[in-house]
Amino acid sequence: MSLRYRVCPDCGDMHDVNDWPGNHVKWNEVVCSPSVVRDGLDDLFHPMDNNRYDSKRKFSAVTNELGGVEIGTSEQQDNRYYDTAKQDDVAQAKQMVDQGYKPNPETANLAQTLASTTGSWESA
Ligand SMILES: [Zn+2]
Repeated sequence: MSLRYRVCPDCGDMHDVNDWPGNHVKWNEVVCSPSVVRDGLDDLFHPMDNNRYDSKRKFSAVTNELGGVEIGTSEQQDNRYYDTAKQDDVAQAKQMVDQGYKPNPETANLAQTLASTTGSWESA
């Protein structure tokens, strides 16, 4: 019989694995807890009937009853990546900054900038 000690997750002491106290959780035992989804809500306002609910099921039932659809619980299907700044744009902007480009302070406001530019870097 070999002596091998492990830290006890129950009491924090070391116990011999071959002489483990029967009323302590074993070192390799995974203690599972049930997955519980609560039904409770904290006074959530429902915009479709202007009432407040403290139950998720009741909230969902009202949504369905009034013809609404709950979204945000399904897995995302559209995984397209929108690269709005192309590498060429970034390279061109960096080159302009390297060459001393500074935005016009009078048109620093984005709305003014968009209104005053033609969409070409050369016009700035
Ligand atoms: Zn113990």
